[in-house]
Amino acid sequence: MKRFDYDVVVIGGGPAGLVTSMYIAEKGFSVAVLERDKEIGVPVLCGEGVSKKIDELGIIPRGRWIVSEVVGARIFSPNGTMVKLSAERAGGETGYIIDREEFDKELARLSAKRGADIFLRCNARQGIFEDGKLVGVKADLDGEEVKFFAKIFVGADGIESRVGKWIGIDTRLKPKDIVSCFEYTLSGIECDKDYSDFYVGKSIAPGGYIWVFPKGDDVANVGIGILGSYSRPGLAKELLDRFIESKENLRKGKAIRVLTGAVPVARPVESFRDNVVLVGDAARHTDPLTGGGIMHALIGGKAAGESIAESLEENDISLLKRYEERWKEILEKKLKRNYMMKEIASGFDDKTFDKLAESVKNINFEEFSTYGLIKALVLKHPSLLIKLKPLLGLR
Ligand SMILES: Cc1cc2nc3c(=O)[nH]c(=O)nc-3n(C[C@H](O)[C@H](O)[C@H](O)COP(=O)(O)OP(=O)(O)OC[C@H]3O[C@@H](n4cnc5c(N)ncnc54)[C@H](O)[C@@H]3O)c2cc1C
Repeated sequence: MKRFDYDVVVIGGGPAGLVTSMYIAEKGFSVAVLERDKEIGVPVLCGEGVSKKIDELGIIPRGRWIVSEVVGARIFSPNGTMVKLSAERAGGETGYIIDREEFDKELARLSAKRGADIFLRCNARQGIFEDGKLVGVKADLDGEEVKFFAKIFVGADGIESRVGKWIGIDTRLKPKDIVSCFEYTLSGIECDKDYSDFYVGKSIAPGGYIWVFPKGDDVANVGIGILGSYSRPGLAKELLDRFIESKENLRKGKAIRVLTGAVPVARPVESFRDNVVLVGDAARHTDPLTGGGIMHALIGGKAAGESIAESLEENDISLLKRYEERWKEILEKKLKRNYMMKEIASGFDDKTFDKLAESVKNINFEEFSTYGLIKALVLKHPSLLIKLKPLLGLR
């Protein structure tokens, strides 16, 4: 059986795995990325919305992957009340509408340029253990069984995360912590190319929302995410079709792409154990409120890559704990607060969404924070204090 030896083996060639490998290769260590699909970035499983704050990370330069830019987001409650937010205040999923295939491919190019090896059609199937420690991975490479050996392994294998399971990390997801998605790219529609639109409400998208992300003035990604605990087979498509049919500007659209997928909206799991690190969706770093995970995959990937390189430089595996310190410093508070907000909001009925939208629709969100929003809601609706109180502590 063919054998490959590397300093690090990364399982999964999505944004998290590619960025992790980029920072390891940059320091001159050998790193292999194993991707089971035949092409990086394909199939696309994404609404393709991302915050412009991605530029500040300094990981991927602006390029062809940016399809359009919006100035903000509009949130519509079930009775049509609109709340407008500037792009900065709208969370992680608005600012740029991207070409996700091109985005992932650009990350792959950046990583390969620094020296990472990318293995396509390479399905990691099983861990190889010695004295309870992960030392290798059995994989199918182009139909041939091969083995990869390394000092450190990275599980960047998305929502399914087999790597976490191999080492005993509980990555199981409860239905209430998964969002099922269905999305069309609709052509021949009319949409406002300056805004990403979100439609909320229990009757519209239980536990989630419908998004319309413009890729121009006549093309948009129109998708829905609904919480697993409210879902049944076919429901996401049914609700999205009903929504599109009800909208004059979308009804005439022709689908040029259809996709389905799932997003973890859970609490983060243990992000490293011994010589194994989990990043991105595998570590449950997706924003539990919005389902957006691209930015967090990049932040986690950089933190993991830098910490792994330092650990190899010092020949000290205990330095992997720096990965946890780094991602927690940036993401922990937000993930905690947004998980609580998701738990609370998923119980709201349509009337509550209408009431909330009505209360905040005239607030200038340019000068507003999530903390300020929660405070304003509690002042207007003291009955929400008990539910929202824990969030006030997470400023
Ligand atoms: C429908 C939908 C819409 C979304 N919209 C947005 C959005 O608009 N904005 C946003 O920020 N986020 C969005 N997300 C979330 C975002 O796509 C993810 O958070 C992001 O892709 C996470 O990156 P990742 O690298 O952790 O995982 P992934 O991108 O899932 O990459 C994991 C990779 O691992 C590979 N893999 C898995 N198992 C193995 C194995 N055993 N061997 C080899 N390879 C393996 C997979 O093929 C895959 O390429 C959306 C998700 C879905 C499903």
